[in-house]
Amino acid sequence: MAELNDETDGVAARVSQVAAPVTALGPGRRLGVWFQGCTLACPGCMSRHTWEPTGGRELTTGRFAGLWRDALAGGVDGLTVSGGEPLEQPAALAGLLAAADRVRRSAGVEADLLVYTGWELADALADPAAAAALARADAVVTGRYLAGRPTDLVWRGSANQRIVPLSALGERRYAPYLERRTERPDLQVRVSDGELRIIGVPRPGDLGRIERELRERGVTVRETTWRP
Ligand code: SF4
Repeated sequence: MAELNDETDGVAARVSQVAAPVTALGPGRRLGVWFQGCTLACPGCMSRHTWEPTGGRELTTGRFAGLWRDALAGGVDGLTVSGGEPLEQPAALAGLLAAADRVRRSAGVEADLLVYTGWELADALADPAAAAALARADAVVTGRYLAGRPTDLVWRGSANQRIVPLSALGERRYAPYLERRTERPDLQVRVSDGELRIIGVPRPGDLGRIERELRERGVTVRETTWRP
């Protein structure tokens, strides 16, 4: 198979956000990439700003490879791709994960590649483009967000969502977490350009509570991404 060239090859991804370190979506410290565009429209989605496919910005394979190389040099343990719906850009996801795989191999770092998707795994594997896109993923978190089925499983928003290891590294790294539960999920709060972003999987009521606490501290919240 031909190797992707960092600088010239691959389909650029449309992304909403890139951030590191991410500590609330997978084990250890991670580089996070949020794809832009999602047609699944789960009621109660906290990321409505990622639905519009023409929003966000372009992330080329070459730019991503540089960010990932720097992140690995800085000691991250893995990559988390979320969204939006990554499988709605299968060629871009395939290119990004191929670059991530090649860079981690050349760096000699055992960093895992995790993808969040609203699709069920069987549907993804039955779709040639989606299956090809996930070929290098070590694990996936699958399934729509169902607001009526809250869960205390780590890194999942509803009880139907599953972590599925797809490689030997994925098995090793995610086996301890498949059924792990937590009383309170980790949430990260990042502020940039007047925007406050919450990274992680909040429980029902968490976002409203954060909004109320911000207002009590005098912060004006004009728009949120979790209300229509
Ligand atoms: S929860 Fe995920 S899959 Fe569902 S609408 Fe939101 S971004 Fe899309």
